[in-house]
Amino acid sequence: MSEPILSTHALSGGYGDFQALFGVDMHIDPGEVIALIGANGAGKSTFLKSVFGMLPVAKQMVRFDGADVGGTPAHKMVRQGLAMVPEGRRLFAGMSVEDNMRVAIDNARLPEDQGQWTRDRLFDLFPILGEKRREMVENLSGGQQQMVAISRALLCQPRVLLCDEISLGLAPKVIREIYAVVPEISAAGTAIVLVEQDVSLAKSASNRLYCMLEGRITLSGASGEISRDEIATAYFGGS
Ligand code: ATP
Repeated sequence: MSEPILSTHALSGGYGDFQALFGVDMHIDPGEVIALIGANGAGKSTFLKSVFGMLPVAKQMVRFDGADVGGTPAHKMVRQGLAMVPEGRRLFAGMSVEDNMRVAIDNARLPEDQGQWTRDRLFDLFPILGEKRREMVENLSGGQQQMVAISRALLCQPRVLLCDEISLGLAPKVIREIYAVVPEISAAGTAIVLVEQDVSLAKSASNRLYCMLEGRITLSGASGEISRDEIATAYFGGS
């Protein structure tokens, strides 16, 4: 069996003296979609930030593409093939859709519009962005802004895309629209880690699912085989 594209090994860490993660083991294969669920404050965002080099962790705690990379700064992780759609989207206000995309390409130091995720392909994936390419991002709806955030991450040509609560604050119809592209992204070989509060959505969109409680993984398995009861116990803690 080949090695997963991304894995964590007894990943622990947090913020200064405050420990938020306690020995998290997780892995994802190329093109796979995994979901990470858990209540507010469980440590899901901290996990993504730790993997992405935004929080200090030991080198051997994160393995990406056959190398130990824990603690490698985010801008270097991007060049190695990891990208993140951050919570709250973090777009560059005062800039157009197209310019937000251009900044991503520049930051990743990639030749413009090379690799499988080109701007044209993203405009095919999200046609509304093609129509609004010259619009300032602050004039877009929340869903459209999320599409820009996803496009920006994909333009870095990641092999693994980390998504932090991409459904947050969006209407159900818009969430469906955004989640509709997940299979297309994974079919192109890009693995996806979905941090998601909506359990049904997480279950239906993923191949495998992990549940986190107070910084520990309390359940993992094939999304189609995990029962509601198992999730409830793992999510809230059980006796
Ligand atoms: P949410 O769904 O609310 O984003 P989460 O599962 O992503 O929840 P985290 O944001 O990772 O949870 O938080 C995990 C723990 O770390 C919580 O106890 C939280 O209060 C703490 N925490 C998060 N960010 C910081 C920070 N910048 N400084 C100190 N503690 C933090």
